[in-house]
Amino acid sequence: MAKSMKRRASLWVYDQISGSYIDSEKDSLKRHYLHFKLEGFCDEPEIYLVANEEGLEWGYTVFKWDNMGVPLPMKKALHFLAWKDLNVLSAEEKIDKIIEEMMKAVNAKKREYRKCKKCENKLHDSQFYNKTHCRKCAKKHLGVYVD
Ligand SMILES: [Zn+2]
Repeated sequence: MAKSMKRRASLWVYDQISGSYIDSEKDSLKRHYLHFKLEGFCDEPEIYLVANEEGLEWGYTVFKWDNMGVPLPMKKALHFLAWKDLNVLSAEEKIDKIIEEMMKAVNAKKREYRKCKKCENKLHDSQFYNKTHCRKCAKKHLGVYVD
């Protein structure tokens, strides 16, 4: 059986603490993006965790096309944990806190997915044409052209 998301997220956090010191305001490498894949969930999206001057930020990358048709990566933040809230904790409490906040980010990402009322596939919000139809179903059932 596959390990639960919580278990994998916890192990991942431990790895990032020993490898990138994400629990330390002083020692963490700033603006270094660490990626976690939501294995087994829908299209297995990735979220990132990054340390910056204010704290730890979770989010993901989306691509926007500019008017030349070039995809530009944009960061979309999901969740934030300030150093000042982390620094007051003991080493063990810090780990628990980061895992807890990590799961909030994972769940925020999961909430962006919903079921299409027609094909019943669970898809990301960006894959929908409207509230009820995914893009594929809109093309098939509503006869609209969506790229
Ligand atoms: Zn559909």
